[in-house]
Amino acid sequence: MKKNKIPKDRLKKGPLVIIECPEKIPCNPCIDVCPRKAITIKDFLVEIPKIDYNKCTGCLLCIPKCPGLAIFGVHYNYNKMESLLSLPYEFLPRPKKGEKVWGLDHKGKKICKVIVERVIENPNFDRCAIVQIRVKKKYFDKIRMIKL
Ligand code: SF4
Ligand code: SF4
Repeated sequence: MKKNKIPKDRLKKGPLVIIECPEKIPCNPCIDVCPRKAITIKDFLVEIPKIDYNKCTGCLLCIPKCPGLAIFGVHYNYNKMESLLSLPYEFLPRPKKGEKVWGLDHKGKKICKVIVERVIENPNFDRCAIVQIRVKKKYFDKIRMIKL
């Protein structure tokens, strides 16, 4: 899996998204939806999308628009001990705020229990919600799914 490298100082500055496209596929809804024009792809067939981290505000609009569920929000310094991860979530029922759920890596391996901070629904998101979870900072780049 390919992903963009985030400059360390930018990671600690505020919310952003990480793109982890599993394959190079001709696809571009993430580019069209971004109000800041922060996402670009040089060549659809050979490149994964690139994020300009000087432009990305972490607004999360691109997350539910990605058909590959390959975009994840990270607010690294959410509080002193934890990061806030924003994950795409298509299943029903949705988790509830405050619920304890399993945090899984991108292959579905259990990492640790995490707390659901918020569930964001919007008719423009189609079937996809955004589930925000609090995780220990060391897991910000590891947890990519949840299991109720
Ligand atoms: S989070 Fe918002 S600003 Fe950042 S790439 Fe996605 S749509 Fe653009
Ligand atoms: S919408 Fe998702 S799958 Fe399509 S190019 Fe963007 S990140 Fe990759």
